[in-house]
Amino acid sequence: MSLLNSPVERSKLGLHTIEQYEPLIGSAAAERIGLKADRVRAMRIAHVSSTFYGGGVTELLTPLTLMMNAAGIETDWHLIQGTPGFFGCTKKLHNTLQGENLTWSEAERTIYEEVVFENATRLHLDECDAIIVHDPQPLPLISHFPHREAPWLWQCHVDLSSPFAPVWSYLRTFIEKYDAAVFSLPEYAQDLGIDQHFVSPAIDPFSPKNGELSDKEIGKFLANYKIPTDLPLVVQISRFDRWKDPLGVIDAFRKARKQADCRLVLIGNNASDDPESQVIFESLQSSIDEGIIVLAVDDPVLVNALQRKATVVLQKSIREGFGLTVTEAMWKGAVVIGGDVGGIRHQIKNECNGFLVKTPGEAAERIVQVLKNPKLREQLGSRAKESVRENFLMSRLLEDWLDLMVEHGRLGK
Ligand code: UDP
Repeated sequence: MSLLNSPVERSKLGLHTIEQYEPLIGSAAAERIGLKADRVRAMRIAHVSSTFYGGGVTELLTPLTLMMNAAGIETDWHLIQGTPGFFGCTKKLHNTLQGENLTWSEAERTIYEEVVFENATRLHLDECDAIIVHDPQPLPLISHFPHREAPWLWQCHVDLSSPFAPVWSYLRTFIEKYDAAVFSLPEYAQDLGIDQHFVSPAIDPFSPKNGELSDKEIGKFLANYKIPTDLPLVVQISRFDRWKDPLGVIDAFRKARKQADCRLVLIGNNASDDPESQVIFESLQSSIDEGIIVLAVDDPVLVNALQRKATVVLQKSIREGFGLTVTEAMWKGAVVIGGDVGGIRHQIKNECNGFLVKTPGEAAERIVQVLKNPKLREQLGSRAKESVRENFLMSRLLEDWLDLMVEHGRLGK
């Protein structure tokens, strides 16, 4: 066993351990979580998702699986593979889950189910005591494990406030084979014949994306990407996805800059299971002018530097299961102006620790208000940081999963 694979050595190094969180969450909480971890230490858990790269699921599973291993719980993370045709079909499922009315053809159904079947033949999960499958891409896997003994849980990370009924009915035939479904918020609860749980995502405060940076480091990173800091920065960091409303962001920025000088930086990465992002990125090129920077890069420290340097962070989504980018920016004391939808409504308390907006016009008004009022920025920003510390750190997510494993996992084998 290599050093990095050894939970014991990892713990000795102090990486991803619950003790690391003690200064942030207090010793009583750290001790409580440690005792819960003791109860499930004998379990072996497997997560299955469709990408190691890009998007919120990857951001969650990277620290969560490391923390579980550091706590001595053997936790694997498997990927399913797929063709571009497969990921085209699964993006369509994603869009219909978020409420779009789209046809789902017999041919698409065949591609989807065949690729998942191929993946199932390569997955050997007999040793596991719980299997957690993420999002619609690998959902039908369960059909190919008819003799399963361990519990299977399906976690859906998207905004399920109004899924398109015909496609939901189709997916439901797979979902109801699971022992339980896990959604980000209680309002995503569905009419299902299985248990439902609600677990909101969280961030790793020690990762390169969220850890402390000095002003000098921030300046260096922005300079590396030729991002000028002569004007206040208005920033949105998101996959290039129409649900993140990049055109609405540009519209809001154009309205705002008529009243206050500022520069817009839109950065995004392309998740390998999202075939639409390149098209959206290219479609933005015609909207760029000298006050707007649009970059497709994948650099967590640049994300960190921008969220710290920004005068305003936008997340003007029109659907959002839970916006990790919102929590990441709030952790850095940024004022976030978020779309009044889905998980963002739980992350931002309007006018208390950020702003919720419905239209580009409303976003523009809030941008101007924040740009012109440093005291307001400081007040909202410090409340924003505190709300993340209380609710949205990885230690809380670990505890939620430990509770779920006690309830559903195969304990004491
Ligand atoms: N992200 C990133 N670089 C980018 C754009 C996004 O690292 O250029 C990260 C972002 O910091 C966050 C995740 O990707 O951790 C996106 O998660 P979120 O829940 O905001 O949206 P999703 O992509 O899951 O819809």
